[in-house]
Amino acid sequence: MKKGWNNMVLERFFPDIYVKSVYELPIEALKAKGIKGLVFDIDNTVAPFDITEPDDDLIELFIFLKKQGFRLCILSNNNKERVQLFNKNLKTLAVHKAGKPGVKKLKLALEKLKLSPQNTAIVGDQIFTDMWCGHKAGLTCILTAPICNRDQLVTKVKRGMEKQVLKVYFKRERK
Ligand SMILES: [Mg+2]
Repeated sequence: MKKGWNNMVLERFFPDIYVKSVYELPIEALKAKGIKGLVFDIDNTVAPFDITEPDDDLIELFIFLKKQGFRLCILSNNNKERVQLFNKNLKTLAVHKAGKPGVKKLKLALEKLKLSPQNTAIVGDQIFTDMWCGHKAGLTCILTAPICNRDQLVTKVKRGMEKQVLKVYFKRERK
């Protein structure tokens, strides 16, 4: 009984899809699911949090995804300067100070994308911000492993708890 309740509480943090990196997104499966838009977290999802600009691989990935027909938006809890500089060469839709796990700015991202939650997936490295936010708004939630093990202090604190929740998730996935 207790175990079931625990899992229900944890569900909101579990991803629908787990990938090791954004370069392993299951493009065809997402298309089959009707996903037309991807909302990307920045820090430790598509770049280390302390790297200010996207590398060539990421720029190419975004071009590739757009060619595949996806609409893209970056949605970061980080500030305007960080997001604008990062987006200079990505040239995509962008929302800063997202306040994830709050959903207000995610809804703004959907407005910019002109897509519904059902047709959009959120991609991020944190379960307590990206996944929770995505589930609350009804998006498909894709978790990536963090790109590097350097973290902002605030994130570092959450990683321990995150590890515990993910342990339950991966244990269930193996069944
Ligand atoms: Mg992140």
